Amino acid sequence: MARTDFSQTDCDVLIVGAGPAGLTLAIDMARRGVSALLIEKRATPALASKGKGIQPRSLEVFHNLGVIDNVMAEGRPYPRLRFHEAGSVPSDFDMMAIKEPTRAVPYPNTIMLPQWALENILRARLAALGGRVQFGTSLVWLEPRADHVRVTVEEADGTRIVTAKYVVGADGGHSTVRQLSGIALIGDSPNLDGMIVADVMVDGLDRDFWHFWKSQAGRAVGLCPLTATEHFQLTASISPEEQPDLTLHALNALLEEAEVDPAVHFQHVDWVSVFRPNIRMAETFRKDRVFIVGDAAHVHPSAGAQGMNTSVQDAFNLGWKLAAVLGGAEAALLDTFEEERFPVAADVLERSGKLYRDGVARGSTSMRRGDDEQQLLLNYRGTSLCAGEGSDTLQPGDRMPDGMVTDGSGMERRLFDVMSGPHATLLCAGVPSVTAGNGTRIVLSDADEFGVTGYISIRPDMYVGSISPHS
Ligand SMILES: Cc1cc2nc3c(=O)[nH]c(=O)nc-3n(C[C@H](O)[C@H](O)[C@H](O)COP(=O)(O)OP(=O)(O)OC[C@H]3O[C@@H](n4cnc5c(N)ncnc54)[C@H](O)[C@@H]3O)c2cc1C
Repeated sequence: MARTDFSQTDCDVLIVGAGPAGLTLAIDMARRGVSALLIEKRATPALASKGKGIQPRSLEVFHNLGVIDNVMAEGRPYPRLRFHEAGSVPSDFDMMAIKEPTRAVPYPNTIMLPQWALENILRARLAALGGRVQFGTSLVWLEPRADHVRVTVEEADGTRIVTAKYVVGADGGHSTVRQLSGIALIGDSPNLDGMIVADVMVDGLDRDFWHFWKSQAGRAVGLCPLTATEHFQLTASISPEEQPDLTLHALNALLEEAEVDPAVHFQHVDWVSVFRPNIRMAETFRKDRVFIVGDAAHVHPSAGAQGMNTSVQDAFNLGWKLAAVLGGAEAALLDTFEEERFPVAADVLERSGKLYRDGVARGSTSMRRGDDEQQLLLNYRGTSLCAGEGSDTLQPGDRMPDGMVTDGSGMERRLFDVMSGPHATLLCAGVPSVTAGNGTRIVLSDADEFGVTGYISIRPDMYVGSISPHS
């Protein structure tokens, strides 16, 4: 019989769910010295490829978190797409134009890495910072109190109470934290085709292309060679009513139906799931001391590789604010999480919904991707943390570009390296250096480097806070 152990654990931040959002937040908390607990209901790490497209803005976040070298070493640019049609020569094209890195944008391309591989990298970083994932631990109940939240967690041998000053639900689309907090998920589940998604070992197929076929009946079948592994990710469309058979035999039959070369077949299936499109968003991202981030706050179709990226960036937006408020900053700073991230999520939802609908309606041409999906243009202009005026090239609320700066010891350095870590940065662009407290790093550049003259305060999440002629 399960033990009921009411021993109590206190922490400042309880993070529920160790997917990309929860891991990002846990790393940020660990490097800021915030006492945080990261719980995960799974007994062991997930092994699914799921979100395999890492967008340039997330790569910049990973630079800041100290994992970019591992991500770039294991990840690869997307392969060309190849569309096979029975009796004709296949047609090939690039999903997105491959760009050269520039001084301002060092990571211009979307990188492919299976989600499990990214999660491995994030867990290793968390461990290096002294943190860990507490697997086999589910949040099952929460009670908000005036100055903390009382949470019940279930483990293999019983239940336990955890009290935390803040709870962050990073617990995915079916979020228990969201449901227990009474936050409604608004939107729809359109009556569109869904998808079988699987990680499969394939015989008889080259790994140079992301291959696509269409059956006579209109079923789209894709096989994408996954980096960091010998698997392919299989996607096969299913009608809204279809209840697909997910056995190896049935999946091989899909290849036959799509008239794929008979030499190609699946050896075995390591993960398989059915995905049905949902376009939904929580009515609010916060209820008092409880926040929701990532898929818990917004559920997207997979088209456009936005879900995992938006999740990581939600967590990165919230981390420094939680740490600042726990360290004595005005609690109102936490209101800016929803102010900044709600419109972003709404926009991403609209875009990925449209891409998915177009994909169902038009097929191959709708696979082309551009700047909108890369999330580098995303900004918080006009929100309450912005102050001062910029120029045409750089304004408060913008993503801070990379560039060359001079640090206090007179050394030339990349701004992205200077910004890496939990601190804020003050850039004196064409103006004299000053001193600043709170661990803020001071660097200098000439006025031309960023197209602005003045003191540019850069938030810990690498967005411009204020631009002013005086410090
Ligand atoms: C086929 C497919 C392809 C995709 N492709 C892309 C892509 O290319 N790019 C992209 O950006 N996104 C993509 N996505 C979406 C992406 O996988 C998700 O957006 C991402 O996983 C969300 O991360 P998260 O951390 O918010 O939640 P999740 O990854 O869902 O993690 C939530 C975690 O919380 C745990 N949990 C749940 N309830 C509890 C509880 N009560 N207590 C403790 N733990 C709990 C779960 O076990 C899970 O580990 C794809 C998704 C699918 C299905």
